[in-house]
Amino acid sequence: EVKDRGRDGVVVFSDELSRAVERHLQIERCLHFALHNREIEVLFQPQVDTTGRIRSAETLIRWHSAELGAVSPAEFIPIAEQTGYISELGDAVIARAFQALRDWDRAGFPLEQLAINISPRQLVHLNFVHRMQDLITRYLGREHAHRITLEITEHVVAEDTDRVIHIMQALRQMGLRFSMDDFGTGFSSLSYLKRLPFDELKIDRSFVRQVDHDTNDQAMVRTICDIARQFGLAVVAEGVETEAQYRWLTTHGDLLFQGFLFARPMDANAFFDHCRRAPALKPDTSRAAPAAG
Ligand code: C2E
Ligand code: MG
Ligand code: MG
Ligand code: MG
Repeated sequence: EVKDRGRDGVVVFSDELSRAVERHLQIERCLHFALHNREIEVLFQPQVDTTGRIRSAETLIRWHSAELGAVSPAEFIPIAEQTGYISELGDAVIARAFQALRDWDRAGFPLEQLAINISPRQLVHLNFVHRMQDLITRYLGREHAHRITLEITEHVVAEDTDRVIHIMQALRQMGLRFSMDDFGTGFSSLSYLKRLPFDELKIDRSFVRQVDHDTNDQAMVRTICDIARQFGLAVVAEGVETEAQYRWLTTHGDLLFQGFLFARPMDANAFFDHCRRAPALKPDTSRAAPAAG
């Protein structure tokens, strides 16, 4: 309907602005029913080591809205944060992730680590530590807390650093690990590294994309791996799509890989099937518990 927009920049701007506002409100409205309407799906993407073994997986949310179609988490997570809905949504994601981990355990594939994205507001929301403790106790048992990695971006910290440190320490005392997501894309990654108790750095996809031929990206990845070594942190590269990227990365660092080259994000059943099919990724069946209740 807006095909014959005028050349008047102001008109175009206000037109786009009102559409953006409308979209925002639509998402806000639909999101509220998304959980109850079973429109939210939780997927898992493997993180593999240099031998191809699956060492971990990242939990990724998907929303298929009956009204809006598929909406990217990059679009709706910020809105869920603004409306405060992120806590309910986040808890549901965590619960389903824990359930999946427990199901894989019972089926004889005990994944070492499971990563879950936690957004800023979610982390500092009242009682997050207690809710996390409840969920772990309910679904996994406290002795499994060390298998959970929380991925947070540095934007988390901008608001209230002391509070965030306090919360992270409480969760770490329970045994949880922390990964700094999208490392290197923010302005203060390094200063946060000094103050915050991270266990892992996640190299952002933007540095991986051309790492096989762009010398700046190569310098960046080398530097991140050096920093990780100095601080005793693990490293995961995200968005690995090509053999060339993978080859360069394996020869320059000791890290885990995540990306379409290995697998797309999959639902819990597909993830389990994938793990069973991939030869290097086979569960150690000799150690699998007997199928008893
Ligand atoms: P992220 O945590 O950095 O997640 C990695 C993103 O890269 C995911 O996008 C994943 O599907 C995508 N990806 C993985 N491998 C490849 C690849 O080889 N090539 C390309 N092009 N992309 C790849 P996704 O699922 O759309 O998620 C976008 C962002 O939304 C995530 O970025 C994360 O910040 C946020 N997010 C996703 N799930 C959750 C969640 O449950 N809670 C919260 N708070 N945030 C979430
Ligand atoms: Mg992530
Ligand atoms: Mg990331
Ligand atoms: Mg990212």
